[in-house]
Amino acid sequence: ILVADKGSDQITGLIDFGDAVYAPVINELAVACSYFLNKDRNVAEDLATIAYGFHQYKEIYEEDLEVLKDLIVARYMTTLLITYWRAALFPENKDYILRNNPSARLGLKMFSKIDGEAFLQPLRKKCKIGPKMKQDTTPNRYIPGAVKLHPEMEAKISHREEVMGSSYRLSYAEPVHFVKGEGIWLYTADGDQYLDFYNNVASLGHCHPQVVGAMTKQAHTLSTNTRYLHDTIIEYSERLTDLFPAPLSQAIYTCTGSEANDLACRIAKYHTGGEGYIVSEYAYHGTSHLISSLSPNLGPTVSLHPNLRTVPAPHSFDPSVDVGEQFTAHVQGAIDDLQRRGIKPAALLVDSIFSSDGVYTEPKGFLKGAVEAIHKAGGLFIADEVQPGFARTGDHMWGFQRHGVTPDLVTLGKPMGNGYPMSGVIARPEVSREFGASARYFNTFAGNTVAAANGLAVLNVIRDQNLLENSYKMGAYLKEALESIASPKIAEVRGSGLFYGVEIVQAEDDHTPDEKTAKAIVNTLRKRKTLISTTGKNDNILKVRPPLIVTKENIDQFINTLRDVMSELGVLSH
Ligand code: PMP
Repeated sequence: ILVADKGSDQITGLIDFGDAVYAPVINELAVACSYFLNKDRNVAEDLATIAYGFHQYKEIYEEDLEVLKDLIVARYMTTLLITYWRAALFPENKDYILRNNPSARLGLKMFSKIDGEAFLQPLRKKCKIGPKMKQDTTPNRYIPGAVKLHPEMEAKISHREEVMGSSYRLSYAEPVHFVKGEGIWLYTADGDQYLDFYNNVASLGHCHPQVVGAMTKQAHTLSTNTRYLHDTIIEYSERLTDLFPAPLSQAIYTCTGSEANDLACRIAKYHTGGEGYIVSEYAYHGTSHLISSLSPNLGPTVSLHPNLRTVPAPHSFDPSVDVGEQFTAHVQGAIDDLQRRGIKPAALLVDSIFSSDGVYTEPKGFLKGAVEAIHKAGGLFIADEVQPGFARTGDHMWGFQRHGVTPDLVTLGKPMGNGYPMSGVIARPEVSREFGASARYFNTFAGNTVAAANGLAVLNVIRDQNLLENSYKMGAYLKEALESIASPKIAEVRGSGLFYGVEIVQAEDDHTPDEKTAKAIVNTLRKRKTLISTTGKNDNILKVRPPLIVTKENIDQFINTLRDVMSELGVLSH
């Protein structure tokens, strides 16, 4: 496209759209392969190397591999066909037009000798390639018509959709309907009690009397916002920030984890002048316009931010891999890529336990290099503690402490109010000062007097009931119990404190995700009145997250039920 000023004939610019066409990404790999395969070398090995390099930056899937060979062959054939046709049209330019034809002919010849699967074997050895991300990423949910439900429940579900629209999902193939919660238990109207090993919002147990008492007392007395002076929010802020390492000394309040992350990113952008973000490959950070665009977990129907770069979560099944080094290299690669395009990084934003990626905690310290890298590039490190915060990881109050790093901003949510909507950003004053001074930040409900009383009661309960210690001790007990389950389907038990991911795979030594078995376990447990869920890109990782008040007896009951369910499904070792 030639560009001229409006009303002028003078050409002032040119936009070269060149090869920019809309096509499946795998075509790029096929075209690249068609150029680089060489007759004197092993085609399968070369292909594996090129595809492996590509996969590090842009994930390829099982479905892509199925068509890769055909696409390479198609590329050679179209090259030959189009160039002969053009050479006939422009004979004076024949040599130039036909310059790639000898190698295209050779390529076709080479490929005619290779069989489809053998050709992919070295690639499969080199990297783990999974099935494509599903359209619907919500795990274990109710799908209308999939399971026969009681007509009354079906009617209730339809009514709910009529009045609440289609955004909401219900957990489990057969949804649950609770009327009461107490401690680790949830109750149905019939009085059936369910063991809740999943809910990390009511982290102190459902309807904790001390928290509910403090909240209702305050609601009866005064409910106002941060535009008025009030002692409890000041006391709460002091108690809360005292739980953080020294430079993190100020609290700004929001109502949901999404809002907290949104605010943290706004502060990071303001402070650094940067516009680039880095998150993990399957991260979930929330629902706002900005944060949903930084949450690849929401799947292909939700647009990602143009300045977002994603990095694989810190993990390898290969024990010789230094996970910290690998993660640092990925973050550095993302930084380099942003900078090459003239985009200054604003922040590396990670959930410090990588909940939605699949729960990754080992080895301690793996975040160090990545945090150094983002700081060196002038960006901030934001630790999303919505899931791992408030004693969940057992060894510390906050997940980032496990890795010996100090964030610039920390975001909090879920368990902060034990069910009351509370969240916040903990900041280093030098990072948030200018933003605070120039951008007015008022949030009607955040930090209100009732929230303050509620939050303070939560901190008191954690302290008075020694819940950090309980998280550590019961966590160790739970981990050992999970590890004692002998099943070829369990590839790994990962986690810390009271947060575990149990990775379910096809078979021993075959790390192919087994989503079907994982979901069958979750749905069968639900039938046995025991609640957990799944996580990870392939939904094949059991997410086990009991409340901080869990007892040995609760854990024994859970493990016995899990063992029974796995035995019933025929997935225990014989
Ligand atoms: N960050 C993480 C790591 C989360 O898991 C979630 C919620 N699942 C959020 C942020 C968003 O929190 P909220 O739903 O309160 O907006």
